Amino acid sequence: MLQPSKRVQQTKESYIRNILKVIQQPGMLSLAGGLPDASRFPLAMLEQAAIELAKQPSIYQYGATEGLTELREWLLNHQALAEDVIVTSGSQQALDLIARCYLNPGDRVLCETPSYLGALQIFDLAEAQTLAVRSEQDGPDVDDLEKVLASTPIKLFYAVPDFQNPSGRSWSLSKRKAVAELLAKYKVAFVEDAPYRELRFEGESLPTVTELCAGEAFFLGSFSKIATPSLRVGYVMASKDLLGPLKKVKQASDLHSALPMQKMLLSTVSHPDFTRHLEQLTAHYCLRRDALVAALDKHLAHYLDFEIPQGGMFIWCRLKHHQAYQIAAAALEQKVAVVPGDEFWPAKLKVDYQAIRLNFTSLEPKQLEQAVIGLAKVMQQINT
Ligand code: PMP
Repeated sequence: MLQPSKRVQQTKESYIRNILKVIQQPGMLSLAGGLPDASRFPLAMLEQAAIELAKQPSIYQYGATEGLTELREWLLNHQALAEDVIVTSGSQQALDLIARCYLNPGDRVLCETPSYLGALQIFDLAEAQTLAVRSEQDGPDVDDLEKVLASTPIKLFYAVPDFQNPSGRSWSLSKRKAVAELLAKYKVAFVEDAPYRELRFEGESLPTVTELCAGEAFFLGSFSKIATPSLRVGYVMASKDLLGPLKKVKQASDLHSALPMQKMLLSTVSHPDFTRHLEQLTAHYCLRRDALVAALDKHLAHYLDFEIPQGGMFIWCRLKHHQAYQIAAAALEQKVAVVPGDEFWPAKLKVDYQAIRLNFTSLEPKQLEQAVIGLAKVMQQINT
């Protein structure tokens, strides 16, 4: 039988994909995925945008690899973070293109622990060596970061400085500045992945690390969490020099992202009602975060510790007594799904502590409490 390449064989499948069938069973309460609340998709704006597509037949023709000009112009005006932009099929594709374009097998990539598992998978597929820097509540441990950068040649540092997946953490301004300085000092390129940046419930918005970086940086944006994920529209901003080779890889990969989706997305995000949609969405998610926090305080304070995120979609819980895989498996039997923290560590590195990731955007407040009660039952039963 035809064998997949070694690269593919050594890449782990995603835990969530593997349990998807179980999660989709009726009655399952899933805190596992990273799904936006579908009842909050901006359907009226999307409907209007879809109707308007017919007025522009050229939208159904092949298009430019770098994306729809109007959308690229809007992005560069809206967020003047870099010289140029390529529209991608979700920010996931931007990550994949960067890895394929810039990483040779064996090159070292640095990430935080825990880290986004979709990025870890991509670095494995690129046959890179993934190293980690310790992460604290307000960003990476800067001393640890300098130690790694000074002792090892690193090609890219990948991080999610705003409401990270899975930890929910955001970097403080001082950490953003310190990291930007260190990256410039050691000439390491930064990959800033920011799909949750606009989902801020409270506190002040901070500058991107890309803005603060004197050296090379890629900024990855996404509309999946603020509009809808299925249009698959994201983007990568950087200097023309950095994006040139990336465009070549995208051309070889899929020629270009779907133009009707780019146009629909542009019509939606530039619609006068979109700002209100975003305000309502963040207020809605803030209520859900509060509901999950209250349920955790009420039912699970004895078994876990957590930090309250100021935005995003996740609460990261450190387990005081339990093993995460055991809890996740037993919880599935109680019809509650969670993701074990181990999944968010690079495969070859030791997991520092036991944790689970809980999503608060896709269940209603009552269901969130029900799920937490289910988890509490499991933890009591497996009490060690
Ligand atoms: N980066 C992070 C940190 C994510 O959590 C996700 C999606 N869960 C992505 C990138 C990919 O998002 P998309 O491709 O939908 O833009």
